[in-house]
Amino acid sequence: MPSKYSRLEAKKFAVNRSSRIFERPLDINGNLQKVSEYYGESVFHYLTAPGIPESIKDELLAVSTSGTALKKEHADIVAKAVTEWATQKGATHFCHWFQPLTGSTAEKHDAFLDLDGETPIEKLSAGQLMQGEPDASSFPNGGSRSTFEARGYTSWDLSSPMFLIDGVNGKTLCIPTAFVSYHGDALDMKTPLLRSVTNLNEVATKFMNMIGFSNTKKVTVTCGAEQEYFLIDKAFYFARPDLVMTGRTLMGSLSHKNQQLDDHYFGRIPERVLSCMEEIDFKLHKLGIPAKTRHNEVAPGQFELAQIFREANVSADNNQLVMAVIKEVAEKHNFIALLHEKPFAGINGSGKHINWSMATDDGMNLLEPGVNPEKNLKFLAVTSIVIEAVHRRAKLLRMAIASQGNDHRLGANEAPPSIISVFTGSNLEKIFEAIKNGETVTEEGKVILDLGANQLANLMMDNTDRNRTSPFAFTGNKFEFRAVGSSQSISFPLSILNAAVTEVFEESIAFLEKEIKATSVETALMNLTQKWLKSSWNVIFNGDGYSQEWVKEAEKRGLPNLKNTADALPALLDQEQTKYMVEKGIFRRNELDMRYNVLVESYNTLREIEFQTQMDIVKKNVLPATLEYKRILGKVIKQQKDIGLESSVEVELYKKLNFTVESLYANLSNLSNACEALNGDAAKNSFEIANNIFPLSQALGVSCNQVEDLIPNDLWQLPTYYEMLFLR
Ligand code: ADP
Ligand code: MG
Repeated sequence: MPSKYSRLEAKKFAVNRSSRIFERPLDINGNLQKVSEYYGESVFHYLTAPGIPESIKDELLAVSTSGTALKKEHADIVAKAVTEWATQKGATHFCHWFQPLTGSTAEKHDAFLDLDGETPIEKLSAGQLMQGEPDASSFPNGGSRSTFEARGYTSWDLSSPMFLIDGVNGKTLCIPTAFVSYHGDALDMKTPLLRSVTNLNEVATKFMNMIGFSNTKKVTVTCGAEQEYFLIDKAFYFARPDLVMTGRTLMGSLSHKNQQLDDHYFGRIPERVLSCMEEIDFKLHKLGIPAKTRHNEVAPGQFELAQIFREANVSADNNQLVMAVIKEVAEKHNFIALLHEKPFAGINGSGKHINWSMATDDGMNLLEPGVNPEKNLKFLAVTSIVIEAVHRRAKLLRMAIASQGNDHRLGANEAPPSIISVFTGSNLEKIFEAIKNGETVTEEGKVILDLGANQLANLMMDNTDRNRTSPFAFTGNKFEFRAVGSSQSISFPLSILNAAVTEVFEESIAFLEKEIKATSVETALMNLTQKWLKSSWNVIFNGDGYSQEWVKEAEKRGLPNLKNTADALPALLDQEQTKYMVEKGIFRRNELDMRYNVLVESYNTLREIEFQTQMDIVKKNVLPATLEYKRILGKVIKQQKDIGLESSVEVELYKKLNFTVESLYANLSNLSNACEALNGDAAKNSFEIANNIFPLSQALGVSCNQVEDLIPNDLWQLPTYYEMLFLR
């Protein structure tokens, strides 16, 4: 089949696929097992594992929570137990599983096989469990180490359970680890996250004790991520070099029906997609990841998966696996899952809402307003602390979600703007306003919604409405950081957010220490809340974040508006913004520099790959299609002329095509010249790319779409938006 028909071939494949059936395990009666029967089957946690004495479990727990040193003999007991467990389940290999600065995960496999003399045995030693030594030089390090120091260490994270991943013919035991350099610099996403939760625990616990909750011994950060993704048929994917190379379409004329009718969101899930989701959930549940919600998203072909929240570090590991499992299972169903923030221009992109709160060991959610939020001083104070943190570290939070992919979402009329603000909902805003102004807070009446139909159960009105335009919203009993990109690791934004909140907690403790000497705890808490609300009032915004008025208003309020990645990343180098994190060792100064370098370089590289790929497609696909069409038109025109007929329509078409191709070619040359002229250092290039070259690439994309609209169906080789989004 000649290649120009590849698109039509792909279409045939896509529409004729059937749903994949996977085997769900049966119970002894031959019925399908309940989820609770296989949930966590592929997970090993020393706390629940058989073969580990209770006393040692306690010691291990102490190690993971209070940072005491792990004894080798204890690690040995875990190593033996996990080897027994994993090899019985069919595992042949183990690996240290870690999260380098690429944002994805890495693993290096070793066999359990060992030789005892000449006798083959299965073995994982305490040393192998606790520490690994992958060569660090091939992972992004932002130029922080010279090659003679290329050694890196992975170190077992006791707080996140080990798990088995399935290969086609065997299994591998994954040991979650942190990844650090020879000098202990964090080369990964996990290490700073662990430091940040440790620091937050310390100050938040102290805070709780101070305000009268003397039983609180620990405060953990809780997090639940919602993951958005697109599914398109595999056949289309491989016929789109831009998707394969860059994860997004670099051109593509929007179909006439896309998401205007809002008929996809929460709609009936297409059968083939549902069967894929069922297998995704099955796999995740076996991995002990509590996948909870699945539904269609706003854009055609777009879906969401949300899991039940848990401790932040485990949640971050979970989300990495969620992304991996979605991709892997999708392929089995002949889909490709696109996790890019903006695979298709003109329709919604994908994000990842990080639901975030803090919980005490004795079961309190610090952001739970309760029935009388206006009287819940702990809630009011903690909420004001978070708001102050977001206000103060808005630049860092914006930086933490910056990527070339997310640049397409933030500020587009579908996703939170790049201006960081906090949505509180109107009830809370009223209460806060009164506190700020030193007025008495009146009780907000509970509103029951009258539905006018007795058959229906009473609905209590939520005390927050659903403002989808806010990057950071209070949603009932947690905050939701909504501006996070769909493909990124949640660890980084979590670390930054935790650090920002820790800083304000610490200042709050100092404030309260003084206040409590002079007045009651209640008054002190009110004063604290008032203090933070006064200083952070500007960041609270409950209006339409998509509107142009907000951009102007935010500027008046002095809120930063870092429009793209190039603008946002320098916050990492801003000593005023990062001082606290560095002081507390959540990030070392050189780790921040390292991250800046890695992020700038990856931004530049990813954009350059996009530019080159786009120019390639123009030369190899778009231009040849125009030539072919011109050839056909030319032939018709000549034919008509030969028999003495006018061909006004054909000539019109020819002229129009010619005109469009001319501007396409001019745009191609502009982009090509601009890319060649790029010769600054990475930082300078990032601005040049963001401000000058990227717009050229967008202009080229528009030209391509104009051409696509003119070219006959059978001459156009690239699968269209209509096909990719609607055919499955
Ligand atoms: P929506 O899409 O309406 O925002 P979902 O039910 O899809 O809501 O997602 C809500 C997410 O928030 C879930 O992952 C849930 O587990 C999480 N969540 C709920 N309470 C907390 C909490 N206290 N801390 C962190 N996350 C939470
Ligand atoms: Mg949500």
